[in-house]
Order: sequence, then C-alpha cells, then structure tokens
Amino acid sequence: MSYRLNSTRSAAVFCGSRHGNDPAFSKATAEFGARLAEAGIRLVYGGGRIGLMGVLADAVLAGGGQVFGVIPDFLRRLEVEHGGVTEMVVTETMHARKQLMCDEADAFVTLPGGLGTYDETIEIITWRQLRLHDKPIFILDIAGSARPLIAAIDAAIEMGFASADARNLFEVLDSVEAVTGRLRALSAEGASANPEADAIRLT
Ligand code: AMP
Repeated sequence: MSYRLNSTRSAAVFCGSRHGNDPAFSKATAEFGARLAEAGIRLVYGGGRIGLMGVLADAVLAGGGQVFGVIPDFLRRLEVEHGGVTEMVVTETMHARKQLMCDEADAFVTLPGGLGTYDETIEIITWRQLRLHDKPIFILDIAGSARPLIAAIDAAIEMGFASADARNLFEVLDSVEAVTGRLRALSAEGASANPEADAIRLT
C-alpha cells in the first residue's frame, strides 16, 4: 500500500469515551500514547478526559508530547473536557469537530471504542473512498476490539455493496508497536521524499 504523505507529524486518534471491560484496552492505549510522545507525533483527539480518550491524552502529556483536542461545545461537560492539553478548540457541531480533526491529521488511528469510535472510523474510511483525503488509516485490534467493524465492512463487500478494494483503504494491526512502527516509517518516508513541504510544516 502506498500513500502520498508529506510527513506524519500529527495522528488523529479515535477511541472510547469509556474504558471497556478488558484492562488490555487501557494498557494498550496508555502504551500507544507514550510511544506517540516518544516519536514526536502530535495527538489530535476528541478533547475528553474520560475513558480511553483520557488515558490516551494523559499518556501523551506524561511523555512530554503535544495534544490537540477538538470538542463540540455541547459535549464539553458531558465528556468532561480535558483541562491540561496543549491546545483545545471548541467547535459548534460534531461535524465541525470531525472536519477539523481530519484537517489537522496526517494519519488516523482507531483504538478500541464504542459507537462513536465506529462512526468516526467508518466516516474517515468513506471520506478516503470518496477521495476527500488520501491519508493512511490504521485500526489497532486489541483483544478482538476491531472485529465487529471489520466484519461489517467484509459483509458489505460480500453483499456487493462495497468493492473488494475497500479493504485497501485501511490497515488492521494487532500491536501498539506495529502501529507506531508504521507511523514512524511514514514520517521518515515523508521527510526524505518532500523536504520542502516538511520545512513549511515545521515553521
Ligand atoms: P464512543 O466510542 O461511543 O465512546 O465515542 C467516542 C468518541 O466518539 C467520543 O468523542 C464521542 O463524542 C464521539 N461520538 C459519539 N457518538 C458520535 C456520533 N454519533 N458521531 C460522531 N462521533 C460520535
């Protein structure tokens, strides 16, 4: 799979506003946050401090990384807005939140989560299918967390409602190391392939 990327400086991450019932979900999320900080990749996320969203933001911040939160006004209290992120943007609507997260990201990562996480992941996959963006999408499968989503996509293909190529719009990986390895590789590729674009982004 090849991507046209300038450089992976920011990753938008979709994950649960709950912890889920397997401790492996929080463990992997915290580990992923630490690795993002270590790699110098800015986290773009939904701005909450509850559930896996909070675990992730806290881990990036604890590692000295940058966190960009995007939260719609009506969710500020509901999702208990994170007070310690590097930057927080409050949007009027969910749609504006999704658009800004997409614009601010060089790549997307889905961690375990619920309906909101499924929705965000499917939407970003469909935007890629419609060629509204060409940014890589990684789905991290922890203890089978990605199975329902992949099964739904496979079912659409099987029923003739999606092309088999839909499977090439995203990658499913089963470890934090695999995802961070892909992000780091894309970052290095982009940096050497397009130094001018990199220089612009870094200023
Ligand atoms: P969840 O996976 O349901 O815990 O939700 C994770 C994130 O998705 C949270 O930031 C929610 O605000 C967001 N979310 C929840 N429902 C929706 C929805 N219908 N559309 C888009 N995002 C949503």
